[in-house]
Amino acid sequence: MYTLGELVESFQLYAVCEPCQRVVWVDVARIIRDEGAGYEIQRLRHRLFCSCCQTRTRAIRIVYVGTNAKASGFRYRRTASPLPDKD
Ligand SMILES: [Zn+2]
Repeated sequence: MYTLGELVESFQLYAVCEPCQRVVWVDVARIIRDEGAGYEIQRLRHRLFCSCCQTRTRAIRIVYVGTNAKASGFRYRRTASPLPDKD
């Protein structure tokens, strides 16, 4: 099982809301600051909640971004939404 500390090295994490097709970038670096690098992705999955349609979702998308992800992943991206909104 991956931990967030392992994931942030080379992956980006997105939460996917199936009912409203919303895809939101998850600030893994911030969660690591709050919960520690040993926090498991599986646990994060249970905390996902869509603020748009008020639905709990456990769907996540993990995107490989290469070994330089650590540098970019720890940048503050408060309003970042790298994927275009659908519709
Ligand atoms: Zn939703």
